[in-house]
Amino acid sequence: MLKKKIIIIGGGVAGLSAGIYGQMFGFETLIFEMHNVPGGQCTAWDRNGYRFDYCLHWLIGTRTSAFHDIWKETNVINDNVVIVDNEIHTVYIDDTWGEFIIYNNVDKWQEYLTSKAPEDALAIRNMCDHMRMGAGFEPFFKAPSLRSFLDYVRVLLTKTKLLFMLNRYSKMPAKTYFNKLKFKSPWLRFFLHKLFGETNFSALIVIMMLGWFHLKNAGYLVGGSLPLALRMADRYRDLGGKLQLGKKVEKILVEKNRATGIQLTDGTVYHADYIISAADGHATLFDMLEGKYLTPELRRAYSTWDLYDPFVQVAFGVNDRIRSKAVTTAYIKDIFTIGNLEIRHGYSIMNQSMNDPTLAPEGKTSLVLRFDSAWEDWENIGAEDYKRLKDLFKDKGIKLLEKHYPGITCNIEVIDVATPKTNVKYTGVWKGAYEGFLPTGNMVKKTLKPTIPGLKSFYMIGQWMFPGGGLPPAAQSGQWVMQMICRNRKNT
Ligand SMILES: Cc1cc2nc3c(=O)[nH]c(=O)nc-3n(C[C@H](O)[C@H](O)[C@H](O)COP(=O)(O)OP(=O)(O)OC[C@H]3O[C@@H](n4cnc5c(N)ncnc54)[C@H](O)[C@@H]3O)c2cc1C
Repeated sequence: MLKKKIIIIGGGVAGLSAGIYGQMFGFETLIFEMHNVPGGQCTAWDRNGYRFDYCLHWLIGTRTSAFHDIWKETNVINDNVVIVDNEIHTVYIDDTWGEFIIYNNVDKWQEYLTSKAPEDALAIRNMCDHMRMGAGFEPFFKAPSLRSFLDYVRVLLTKTKLLFMLNRYSKMPAKTYFNKLKFKSPWLRFFLHKLFGETNFSALIVIMMLGWFHLKNAGYLVGGSLPLALRMADRYRDLGGKLQLGKKVEKILVEKNRATGIQLTDGTVYHADYIISAADGHATLFDMLEGKYLTPELRRAYSTWDLYDPFVQVAFGVNDRIRSKAVTTAYIKDIFTIGNLEIRHGYSIMNQSMNDPTLAPEGKTSLVLRFDSAWEDWENIGAEDYKRLKDLFKDKGIKLLEKHYPGITCNIEVIDVATPKTNVKYTGVWKGAYEGFLPTGNMVKKTLKPTIPGLKSFYMIGQWMFPGGGLPPAAQSGQWVMQMICRNRKNT
């Protein structure tokens, strides 16, 4: 029997995962990726011997869970990959309130917070108990539409307390959660408000994230983002998949409400039995499908749901071995300006090369500074202003680095500035929203469906299907879509 053919648009982590599972399940798959390297936003670039990583800080599923199985099956984790579990998640610094540390081990964090704010010992213990419990959260192996009533009953029986907590906190914004704990210490209240109080970010995400770190289930993979993506691409090709790089899809071809193929920007047409888009969600719906298959839910999501703010990254290659207290240090600041742009959330400095020798030559350091920066400030900027603004960010970056690491300037060998436009240019991500929709308190349980009513043989996957985005849901959506196609094949 001839194998069923599947075209996958986009060779990011979601597309590569779909390709790998498609090959494993016996389909003939073909990935079209517009960039000349696979990986999408999970990437890095090399400059004069330094590697500037763009994505990976941590990967949920480095130790256990359905995510861990996916990482092993897709070759993201294998026996040669070294996993680092940092002691400190992030050090926050404020000029007035001093230092605030988030430890990855919740027991250690509880001890630290209690020593700083003994008056809040009970509330701190309650919060840390939630996080320890949150560590027990297990993602489902099966796609939502394939789960039976029994699958849910099994979870209900084994994780009753956890489910109660999930239900309670999934709709609650983190700021409400922290308010309810009624901390008294002004120091603790200041930092928790600064970190979680200024958006509607979900309490559940915060609780679960710190739980997973506590379990050492959210480590960093030495080598970082690009080797991670290349390992997936190797696995895909080893299984017989065909990865076509430098091929941009312009249009999804539809006949009688069935997706039948794609047309590339050079006019070439390819046909298949199924089309999966693992490309940017907005571009898929509004450009490749010309806005013809928008459900009310999709319209609402893409017009009203909050997005992640993009950022400007100023990366430095430094001819010296720099040690930092933690890989990530975040500096909390009131609004300041660079050129005419308002910078709202301070900035962070990452020293990933401290733990990862592949990011800088021996005895040298690669340091990455990031500033949140609204997409609207970049969207329509002219070429001259763009260059000028990049230079201003570069200058500001040098000044800040010199402030925190006095004497460093004379050792800077390389400077590289990437803006929200850079990400959009290379991956097509809508408005530079690097993890898609923000997982705000009232929507974290919502996910967008991979199928569209009225359009057969078509599926959408990737970060845009789940508020919060990230590598694990992107890869999992690739596994789930193949489970769904297999089930459809069985039923027809
Ligand atoms: C700076 C940064 C830090 C991050 N940190 C983390 C982290 O620590 N942990 C974590 O889990 N996640 C992190 N993320 C998020 C994570 O990288 C993304 O959520 C994830 O990579 C999304 O994968 P995806 O495959 O869904 O989409 P993408 O990576 O956006 O891939 C889409 C692919 O489709 C291609 N494409 C688009 N349009 C077309 C077209 N018309 N034709 C052909 N190809 C097309 C693009 O080139 C791209 O390769 C971070 C992201 C960024 C940018």
